[in-house]
Amino acid sequence: MRYEGSLYRPPSEARSYILQATLGCSWNHCTYCAMYREKTFRVRDLAETLADVEAAGRRFGPNVEKVFVADGDALVMDLDHWRPLLAACRRAFPRLRQISCYAMATNVLAKTDAELRTLREDGLDLLYIGPESGDDVTLKRLAKGSDFAAHAEAARRAKAAGMRLSAIFLLGAGGAGRSAEHALGSARLATAMDPEYLAALTLTVVPETPLAVLEDRGRFELPDVPALLGELRTFVAEARPTDAVFRTNHASNYLPLGGRLPRDRDRIVATLDAALSGDIPLRPEWARGL
Ligand code: SF4
Repeated sequence: MRYEGSLYRPPSEARSYILQATLGCSWNHCTYCAMYREKTFRVRDLAETLADVEAAGRRFGPNVEKVFVADGDALVMDLDHWRPLLAACRRAFPRLRQISCYAMATNVLAKTDAELRTLREDGLDLLYIGPESGDDVTLKRLAKGSDFAAHAEAARRAKAAGMRLSAIFLLGAGGAGRSAEHALGSARLATAMDPEYLAALTLTVVPETPLAVLEDRGRFELPDVPALLGELRTFVAEARPTDAVFRTNHASNYLPLGGRLPRDRDRIVATLDAALSGDIPLRPEWARGL
């Protein structure tokens, strides 16, 4: 298996075989993101990627139950690439039960309904989409490339094709100035996307990103910790997914929480209230990660 540069995957894919079928992110403009800035986006040579799958099959075959296709927005690949890769994964890993990748809303919208269905039938069944915010002003400032409506439509089309969704929101993304709008808009978008999995991460301003430049110039300010917890409280209290597994277990968060929404909403809100009043300790700054 050959890997190039830094690899990123969701926490829930820690035990998955990571297939690096693309390098970098085809968009690479989000103002807060430094993940793939050193990489020029390209789809890896198909023969080379297929050889990786075959090698992984020989080495790990029956032990692989999940495959995560990297890098940043692998859904962007054409079906000419996806279909042989998905077929190779099914052959190489007899106990395979899930194939997933990161996707932008634009990646979903660029595919026809028939193409999405074909991908689902071939085995791609979980998309990780990170709108980060449901507030259109914030989305524009983040240069996310899609607004509320586009994310909602992408989710609708992916779900109609039979895919499951994991939606990721970013506490603090609206800055101190749009904290309330960001939290409420994000809850509304989580409701509209109605994913099976919901996660909240906390924004860290990474040096040398466009967001860091804005922060240096005094044009962006992270909300303080109580305000970040307040955003999370609004999000949990207002989001109305049908039945979503909810997690804030990412290392960036001050308070790891888990449960299902809406079933566990009251318990999670009560925990947040206890944290806001100082009765529950927060993860110390030194223990947080990106
Ligand atoms: S789409 Fe994802 S990987 Fe690409 S620039 Fe934005 S946050 Fe980074």
